[in-house]
Amino acid sequence: MGNNSGNIAIGGILTECNEFSINLMTKENFKRYEYYEKNEILNLTSGVVGGMLSALDGSSFNISPTVFASCSPGGVIEDKCYFDIKEKILDEIKNMQNLKAVLLPLHGAAVTESIGDLEGDLISSIRNIIGNDKPIVVTLDLHAHVTQEMIENSSAILAWEQYPHLDPYETGVRGSKLLREILEKNIKPKMYFSKTPILHSAINASTFGQTPFAEIMRDLKQEEKNNPHILSSSLIHVDPYIDQNNMGGGVIIITNNDIEKAKNISLKFTKNYWDRRFEFEPKLYSPQDAIRDGLDKNSNVLLVETADACGGGAVGDSVQTLKELLNLAPNEKSLTHVVDPIVAAQCVELGVGKEIKILLGHQVDKQWGDPVEINVKIEKITDGKFIYNGGIWDKTIGEMGPSALVTIGNIHILVSSFGTYEWNCEQFLSFDLRLDKYKFLVVKNPMNYKNTFSHIKNIYILDTAGPTPPTCKHLKFKKMFTYFPKQLDLKFEDVLLEYNN
Ligand SMILES: [Zn+2]
Repeated sequence: MGNNSGNIAIGGILTECNEFSINLMTKENFKRYEYYEKNEILNLTSGVVGGMLSALDGSSFNISPTVFASCSPGGVIEDKCYFDIKEKILDEIKNMQNLKAVLLPLHGAAVTESIGDLEGDLISSIRNIIGNDKPIVVTLDLHAHVTQEMIENSSAILAWEQYPHLDPYETGVRGSKLLREILEKNIKPKMYFSKTPILHSAINASTFGQTPFAEIMRDLKQEEKNNPHILSSSLIHVDPYIDQNNMGGGVIIITNNDIEKAKNISLKFTKNYWDRRFEFEPKLYSPQDAIRDGLDKNSNVLLVETADACGGGAVGDSVQTLKELLNLAPNEKSLTHVVDPIVAAQCVELGVGKEIKILLGHQVDKQWGDPVEINVKIEKITDGKFIYNGGIWDKTIGEMGPSALVTIGNIHILVSSFGTYEWNCEQFLSFDLRLDKYKFLVVKNPMNYKNTFSHIKNIYILDTAGPTPPTCKHLKFKKMFTYFPKQLDLKFEDVLLEYNN
């Protein structure tokens, strides 16, 4: 690799926060997933950073890694943790000789105890150091709260195009390629972002199949393909589980030095998204109705307890659906996962084959329900490690901490110490479970269960309590006080927010 043209700094913080969850994130959260300093980053071959590095390979620039920290979502990030990582990144950038550009693999919906827009804070801090002439290219999850500060201080922002998130690597490649065009071909990116306060859960927002979100995404990507002026387009579905001012979804368009074109295209697609806002509300079931209905089916039944999604920042310690299975279907073979560090430790101490009375669930985040007292048998104990098969953390190790499989009759419960992002049921599979043997499968995510269970037709989206509910109607926003069904009469022009760089 040549290294005579100067340095490209690379690094960042990538995680999603949930302000309705009591699940403070510290350095330990990142250390269980990815926490890399300096040259350790250069070893990454998967995920967004792997993609960024691969597309810089063979360029005349030297890659100067700073810090990269990513982890499964949680509540908010401890200030100390953020400030420590931020200081390390800024120090590296300050001390870099012949710096040409900065590449930032971020999420877009991270919040600390005192900072509502981590990404805006980080990008603007870097901008203050490097001045206005050097490009900053940012990649985000499409579930980002894209703010004015982020847009005004970066040269280009590109979001993932797929949900389930199959394309972090490809997005990293796109980010680096655009940066190389800026540096090597003198492209002048102009970026326009328009958004409206459209808040909805992820249930009807896959980018695959016939969802309204998928249709808008496909139209946008078609436009990008056909329109030579567009350098990049991103459709943003704001993570609705933070509570910040001016949250909204919309479209980012980047052109080569033509802000009017970027504006017109952005507005066209953002209006389309706004006009379709009522198509996103999902059909919901109480756990009781879902289980009664499911009992009549003669194939597997998925109970989607999405309000307790670790991948959206929940603790994963709800037992609301488990309680109803115990009441209504105690003899059916069923499987669920509950995060409970106290019970996990008790099981590890007692050992396999023993029986134990446990108080399970709602012990970490007590806002959403009460524990259930049950007698269980300890079937298996593991260290809780598994390897992701695809997605954001493809090929990296996930850590549930000390974990146990316990049973009460035919109901099987995976009890782990920590919550982990769910992708392809790696957590259950690490216990060698045959998932097709279960009549009722409780999954605690709004979308990624489709990676494993695309064949299952009996799917019930449950209306339970938790910090990641399937409908935003349940969220008690303080800053973001409006919710779109209440805004029936609002006109696009009246709710529109527009930012550009
Ligand atoms: Zn996402």
